[in-house]
Amino acid sequence: MTSTPNPRITIVGYGSQGRAHALNLRDSGFEVTVGLRPGGPTELKARADGFAVQPPADAVRDAQIVAVLTPDMVQPQLYGEVIEPNIAQGACLLFAHGFNVHYQQIAPRADLDVVLVAPKGPGALVRREYEIGRGVPAVYAVHQDSSGNAGQLALAYCAGIGGARQNAIKTTFKEETETDLFGEQAVLCGGATKLVQAGWETLVEAGYQPEVAYYECLHELKLIVDLFYEGGVTRMHEFISETAQYGALTRGNYVVDDNTRAQMRKVLAEIQDGTFARQWIAEYAAGNANYKALKQADLDHPIEQVGQRLRANMKWLSASPQPAPAAEPAEAAA
Ligand code: NAD
Ligand code: MG
Repeated sequence: MTSTPNPRITIVGYGSQGRAHALNLRDSGFEVTVGLRPGGPTELKARADGFAVQPPADAVRDAQIVAVLTPDMVQPQLYGEVIEPNIAQGACLLFAHGFNVHYQQIAPRADLDVVLVAPKGPGALVRREYEIGRGVPAVYAVHQDSSGNAGQLALAYCAGIGGARQNAIKTTFKEETETDLFGEQAVLCGGATKLVQAGWETLVEAGYQPEVAYYECLHELKLIVDLFYEGGVTRMHEFISETAQYGALTRGNYVVDDNTRAQMRKVLAEIQDGTFARQWIAEYAAGNANYKALKQADLDHPIEQVGQRLRANMKWLSASPQPAPAAEPAEAAA
């Protein structure tokens, strides 16, 4: 940081990312105000954490950076009705995901700087890593540079949340949006969940105990992912048995085969051509019936009950960070 004072920051939204950014930025010496709807679900939480909380319209007025950390689907209306009429001339509008700008749901006013700072991890981890002196990697981008200083502001914010400790990588709104959606759909959230559920179902259908199947297909995944995280696939090979290695090397491609790769390219194509974005925006606008039903099916999957029973005996798990409270999508639209 230079000798210029830290910019005043308003964080709109106090969910997964909002809370972590607000706490980290305050601890890094920034003046932080939180913008929330009065009586909204996270207002008490922000006050209990010691923040000045104001309605978004008031909170954005004298901020030099306004971070929009509400759910993506509420951002266009929030921007149009509350932020644009109240944000100061020449201020910096900051997003944690490029979705609305990239898919042209928000066209920011020409006088604003428009930047992206996207931590590559959930909010609870962004906070925990900061507290222990580390950080979650982050990417940043500049969409509109009216002041000539937008890149510096993005980097200052990135450093403030702890992201720059981890080599912040410069990207574009397009690259962040498309890779973020692909990662969560094909690999991290969609792919991993379906892989675990299908593996568990295969063992249970074949008559094996659901609890043993849970350990094999879900619980142990963490141990493998921790090795990936520390030292890549190389490190995993150092720790697993030769039998596991030989099985993995000869059977992994049964599961991730040419068809899986073709499906991954289809996922990517639907992100790139806007099909996914249009579908999600229409789903949200229509009240999320399909989204809610699909999510309920995930929550009702029998592996969830088995896991709940087994985890009750894993006392150490209660020490894990709890996810930040988030608004129900339908409620958030209000
Ligand atoms: P969230 O659902 O956890 O939190 C949303 C917050 O916004 C809550 O405090 C809610 O009360 C508030 N809110 C909802 N509607 C509002 C409105 N109309 N006005 C004011 N406040 C309102 O959201 P999140 O998961 O932290 O996502 C925020 C942004 O961060 C999104 O752009 C998302 O893509 C991005 N992001 C999220 C993650 C993640 O791991 N969750 C990771 C990287 C980027
Ligand atoms: Mg995402």
